[in-house]
Amino acid sequence: MATTRSTCPYCGVGCGVLIEHEGGQVTGVRGDPEHPANFGRLCSKGSTLHLSARPALAQATRLLHPQWRSQRGGPTQALAWKQALDLAAGRIARTVQQHGPDAVGVYVSGQLLTEDYYVFNKLVKGVLGSNQIDSNSRLCMSSAVAGYKLTLGADAPPPCYDDLGLAQTLFIIGSNTAWAHPVLFRRIEDARAARPDLRLIVADPRRTDTAASADLHLPLQPGTDVALLHGLLHIMLWEGWLDLAYIAAHTSGFEALKAIVREHTPAHTARLCGLQQADLYTAARWIAGLDSPAQDGAPAPTAPLFSGRDGRLRRPTLSLYCQGLNQSSNGSANNAALIHLHLATGQIGQPGAGPLSLTGQPNAMGGREVGAMATLLSAHRDLANPAHRAEVAQLWGVPSVPEQPGRSAVQMFQAAAEGEVKVLWIACTNPAQSLPDQRMVRRALERAEFVIVQEAFADTATTAYADLLLPATTWGEKEGTVSNSERRISRVRRAVPAPQHPDHALDGPRPDWVIARDVAQRLEALLHPQPAAQRRIHFDYPTPEAVWNEHRQSTRGRDLDISGLSYALLDTEGPQQWPLPEGHRQGLARLYTDGRFPTADGKARFAALPYRAPAEARDASYPLALNTGRLRDQWHGMSRTGLLGRLFGHAPEPVLHMHPQDMARRRLTEGELVSVQSARGRIVLPLQAASDLGLGQVYLPMHWGSDCLSGRTPEGQPLLGVNALTTPACCPTSRQPELKHAAVRVEPA
Ligand code: SF4
Repeated sequence: MATTRSTCPYCGVGCGVLIEHEGGQVTGVRGDPEHPANFGRLCSKGSTLHLSARPALAQATRLLHPQWRSQRGGPTQALAWKQALDLAAGRIARTVQQHGPDAVGVYVSGQLLTEDYYVFNKLVKGVLGSNQIDSNSRLCMSSAVAGYKLTLGADAPPPCYDDLGLAQTLFIIGSNTAWAHPVLFRRIEDARAARPDLRLIVADPRRTDTAASADLHLPLQPGTDVALLHGLLHIMLWEGWLDLAYIAAHTSGFEALKAIVREHTPAHTARLCGLQQADLYTAARWIAGLDSPAQDGAPAPTAPLFSGRDGRLRRPTLSLYCQGLNQSSNGSANNAALIHLHLATGQIGQPGAGPLSLTGQPNAMGGREVGAMATLLSAHRDLANPAHRAEVAQLWGVPSVPEQPGRSAVQMFQAAAEGEVKVLWIACTNPAQSLPDQRMVRRALERAEFVIVQEAFADTATTAYADLLLPATTWGEKEGTVSNSERRISRVRRAVPAPQHPDHALDGPRPDWVIARDVAQRLEALLHPQPAAQRRIHFDYPTPEAVWNEHRQSTRGRDLDISGLSYALLDTEGPQQWPLPEGHRQGLARLYTDGRFPTADGKARFAALPYRAPAEARDASYPLALNTGRLRDQWHGMSRTGLLGRLFGHAPEPVLHMHPQDMARRRLTEGELVSVQSARGRIVLPLQAASDLGLGQVYLPMHWGSDCLSGRTPEGQPLLGVNALTTPACCPTSRQPELKHAAVRVEPA
């Protein structure tokens, strides 16, 4: 038996795994005891990875060779890879020539490896000449990106996981860490066991497992995060808990923010958020880090003190946050308002302190690093900056790269539904389940003239719409890198060959970067047959390492400089945090320790963004606030976790969670089928009493879509899953959709 060191493909904790394999088959998986993200631990999802890779299951569930449909909805026919790649490139090139590059939309995934992402990005921006590439990371982290850039000047989480053990106060907002990032939550539990004085505040409308374990739970009303955070800043300001010297020396824009938070008095905040004023004071005091926990009758503090810029001694506060802040029509303001608390108290750049966004997907950050989104440019460069665009054009050997941002994920599908996007190329993601407003998404997939789906699994909701199916390799079969929530880059390694169809053994699944590379080479020949002298773009990468080397060169001199981070260094030194410039052997654990930020004047900025209510107000027709989220043992659309019966032990079916009093008011009983209706759609499913919810709120797990549900609604409509209900309203800055809030009504089915 052999063992190959790799990384879990599920969440952004980025746990190291040891893949055990024999005879070309995965036989087991263990946590890597040497990986600094998990030190050998795995959660229920990671520890069952080998079961979903069993050969018999792979033969039954994987896409094993290229296929095409001569007719939408018709049977598929096998293609050789050459025919498939020619077909893909030919349709894309013809569309660009007839309708322009904006008529092609490429929708990729935070589950791609960084090398995959790099080639896709170069293909779209360097060959097609558009920015019409976006990622399902838009549904995940784009508000965190916007929040960091608005305030700190760069998309870079400042702290590291080790800070969990150094903080005096952990402030978790908008994250059920216990379920969504389980191994990280184990580290929190360890830290609390070792230091009972460590305090945990959780702000969440639901009393989740994470909230239930908190010293202080703030069950705020849905969508009132900015109001809460502005209210906490207001209290700190009036109580004299801010570090005014830090604000003066290292930030700008505080006066404008002060004017906004003035109205967020404790009474106003408590009323708007549905919280107790006393709890607001407690939270503000703990986060500011000036008090002694012993005053609360709690154990004496043990976290190391640090001296603020104003000379006062503080104990560090670390904030953790995820989709509760991000998936909001105010996502950027939510993120900025949280970071403000750290800037205003100097709780940043210190051991145990700072804002640490928890990445949802395994490599959402890698995609951000290579700039593979409609609004980003390579290596944290700025699309709007002509010098940055010229640098990328020079690196790639093209005359220019486009300036105009492309369409974000929701916009891309809206444009396809309206006939503006003619070709959709979807890689490693399942928009027919995961995007909001599924009726619109289905219209888009039906109206697009050509849909390419590049996938590892055969039967996702989206593969049903494909004209061309390109089989991709997946975990255990491919090589590359991923970046986790603490900026740590880990190697993903191939342990076994991809499964083969016995009749198409030469045309089996290929790595995503290889497929993108081979289409790019064809497109370059079709679209630029007589390249100008200055056109030197190439895609002749023989290995993922060659792609990686080009990417790391592109980061030279940037805030995320990884010019020194070779595959060889990752092999010898293990996973590393960025930056890691040439000449270094280890990355940087914490950023901004010197109080200098990557902005023009070196100062962080307060972003004076006001509180705004969620996009869709509750009213008499739709009186309930629908929240959606993850279950403990499932991952996204369940393409992989849904293959294992044991992972349904925790939650066997989708149910609507509702407070017992709301049920009683509607004369609904547990287990009965209910109809959940929003302005966009309706689904029918069983009801479950849930006193962990506030009144007027309901909750649905996000994992079930049309490919997981059979049957039809009473009106004969197909069951589209939770995203039949959700709204396409997006944050105007980050363009992240508001998956955490939709107005619905619930009635007996
Ligand atoms: Fe995988 Fe995340 Fe679980 Fe770690 S915590 S094993 S990365 S799913």
